Amino acid sequence: MQNDRMAWFRGGDAECSVPPPKRRHPHRLVLLGPPGVGKGTQAELLCKVLKTCHLSTGDVFRAAAGQADPNPALAWALDAMKRGELVSDDLVVGVVAERTRCLQCWGGFLLDGFPRTASQAVALDTILHEHDLSLDAVVHYDLSIDELVGRLSGRRTCRQCKAIYHVQARPPRVEGTCDACGGGLVQRADDQPAAIRVRMEIYETETKPLIHYYATTGRLLTVPADGATEAVLDQTLQALDRKRQTVTL
Ligand code: AMP
Repeated sequence: MQNDRMAWFRGGDAECSVPPPKRRHPHRLVLLGPPGVGKGTQAELLCKVLKTCHLSTGDVFRAAAGQADPNPALAWALDAMKRGELVSDDLVVGVVAERTRCLQCWGGFLLDGFPRTASQAVALDTILHEHDLSLDAVVHYDLSIDELVGRLSGRRTCRQCKAIYHVQARPPRVEGTCDACGGGLVQRADDQPAAIRVRMEIYETETKPLIHYYATTGRLLTVPADGATEAVLDQTLQALDRKRQTVTL
């Protein structure tokens, strides 16, 4: 049975339906890269192979978007999200801080979409340090801007289980329907052309500097993301393997 990630979606004391298997050396990873590079897809696949949990801040906000009466801070955040803008650092860091149980989980974690700014990266390091945890690696996926725009505009997401498809590169068996759960596939508001432009600009100014931040602390692994999904996954696993070997030598 697939984990429902309830602890991540609800925060606080919520429990996941399927506790992860206990690991002596769980993976603790961050995925970094521009919108459309395929972080979400790689995260899903990596979590299956590495038996760890996909922690996406974007998924938390999208789940909250379904709430009947969001509080004012959340309503403001959801509007920013629709325009392709970033949600404020305070709110995002607060969301992650309420979910530190997921960071401490014995199955490890794979953060996708957090951190996205320098101050979020510092906040994450502080939270991890407070809990005596450290990141194994930050996987940075690299791809040209033309390819990114094509990928974003063809992306479709399952309304129910959040699985990701692409109208050309990864179509579902039945058009508009999720292979995994039968849910309807939708185009995210922030995958519309105007929002895509905003997200790209914000990535360049706010998130790209994190590549340097993690490179200088020896945690960065850059993986070219221009191949097929499975090839990118293989390269990621090989890079993580090499990194673990160097650390344990
Ligand atoms: P994603 O699914 O990671 O592309 O996130 C979708 C949207 O959620 C982003 O475009 C932002 O509006 C918001 N969001 C998610 N994570 C963060 C973050 N770490 N910092 C600021 N905004 C975020």
